Amino acid sequence: MAKIALSNYFSEIYTPGEFPRFKVLIDGKWTKTKEKIDVITPIDSTKIAEIGSVNNDEIKAALDSAERNKNKIRDMAAIDRIELINAVRKELAMHKDEIASVLVTESGKALQAANGEINAALERMRLSMEDSRKIMGEYMPGDWSSDTAQKIALVIREPIGVVLGISPFNYPVYTSIAKVLPALLAGNSVILKPPSADPLAFLMCAEIFRKVGVPSGTLQVITGSGEETGDILVKSDKINMISFTGSTPVGKHISSIAGLKKVHLELGGKAAAIVLDDADLELAAKECVKGSLELSGQRCDAISRILVTEKVYKKFIEGVKRHLADYRFGNPLKDKEVTLGPTISQKAAVRIDGMVKDAVKKGAKLLAGGKFKDAYYEPTLLVDVPLNSEIAHEETFGPVVTVIKIKDREDAIKISNGSKYGLDSCVFTEDFYSAWEVMKSLQTGNVTLNSAPSHGTAYFPFGGIKDSGQGKEGVGYSIEEMTVLKTIVLNLAPKNLGKKYSGKFKD
Ligand code: NAP
Repeated sequence: MAKIALSNYFSEIYTPGEFPRFKVLIDGKWTKTKEKIDVITPIDSTKIAEIGSVNNDEIKAALDSAERNKNKIRDMAAIDRIELINAVRKELAMHKDEIASVLVTESGKALQAANGEINAALERMRLSMEDSRKIMGEYMPGDWSSDTAQKIALVIREPIGVVLGISPFNYPVYTSIAKVLPALLAGNSVILKPPSADPLAFLMCAEIFRKVGVPSGTLQVITGSGEETGDILVKSDKINMISFTGSTPVGKHISSIAGLKKVHLELGGKAAAIVLDDADLELAAKECVKGSLELSGQRCDAISRILVTEKVYKKFIEGVKRHLADYRFGNPLKDKEVTLGPTISQKAAVRIDGMVKDAVKKGAKLLAGGKFKDAYYEPTLLVDVPLNSEIAHEETFGPVVTVIKIKDREDAIKISNGSKYGLDSCVFTEDFYSAWEVMKSLQTGNVTLNSAPSHGTAYFPFGGIKDSGQGKEGVGYSIEEMTVLKTIVLNLAPKNLGKKYSGKFKD
């Protein structure tokens, strides 16, 4: 049976027992909540831990503390914030094996994927050092317009206040850190609510932030059902900005109740890979399998449908069949060589199976997989997928390679842009002008040439349009998103304004 065991370093974040009972971080202290939620591992569908489920009083305490303490981080010199994050990075690197092992157990992801996620978070911290020095502003002379003559303006960036971060189950450590990090570097306090399915590894990271010395009360980490806690947090007037990563329906709900707060939404996607006549088919097949299967397809930027021109269709599928063998499917706790573990839950596997069955019923051919046991969904290959099947247009979030035959480039653009989503896409061709035309025509926030979408440390900015969200996430972009512009106008007309400083502030 899967089990969670933590070293003494993390002893304050839980109370031991048959199932470790994890606490929440409110006002700088780990606190045991009155209510709890069970954490079930998809590895063998057994209970491995309990997490706190915050009630209204506990939410209020977190909100009050975040607001009360927000100036602590704002008043730190930026260089001290940077050094603090650097110290967190070094400490996290020392504990990364233990954190990765917990991440595998709670999420079912392969060890390689868990290590990759933690390394991406560490690298993001390193890259952020440089960008946090760029929180600057602009000097604007007013003499361009007679309206502003004799005035100048300084347009400066200030911290936005209290940031609420809500993160999803597929990258629970990386996405949580990708919210806490820019929030703190920009001088904000932050409340982070990780996903209920697999929050434990991030709670361990939060302990590292606390132990290294993030000012008390500037980082609150609360757990509890998003559905029950979400509305109170999102509606609270103590929150100045919401940074949400998760599904489109929840994102739309948050947006509808957030009022006038700034809302950054990273939502679901339906990335198309477009394979044109003159593509390098070997590369395209390898990348398309990778993009479809990695992390069992549970990625917002997963290749969710592959549009292949009829001329190269047969040869492309041969390549895909070969590359399915690049992946090893199974229990990542029993076999360290496994590269594809279970999906997050049996419920998720049932949903994926419904989409596969619907496609087959409507005429698609199942060339591999198509079966599941508990949370384990086999890597699956579906070809000749008709456009009226659900899997041709709804987010799959499962390990299914979905191949659709198309006529030509125009067909590819039309089908791709017919989606309500607009997150990601990729094109395979060796004709640069053809690639350029497709890339300019696609209605997605990101598009990649000759590779599956992959956003790693988010050094390149990343974000969706249409039902895939709003705002850009990225090392420097996220820091900027978590600041607000203030315009300071100086009227230079008074004749004494420039008089010599007399040693007192008020003359
Ligand atoms: P989800 O069900 O929307 O949950 C995401 C987070 O929102 C969880 O912490 C969840 O808490 C919380 N939540 C649920 N209902 C809420 C509410 N009413 N108010 C406030 N918070 C609420 O998504 P998921 O299944 O965890 O993640 C998969 C989705 O995320 C996919 O659609 C994927 O494409 C998307 N995603 C997008 C990106 C991107 O960058 N665009 C990146 C990763 C994932 P509980 O866990 O307690 O329910």
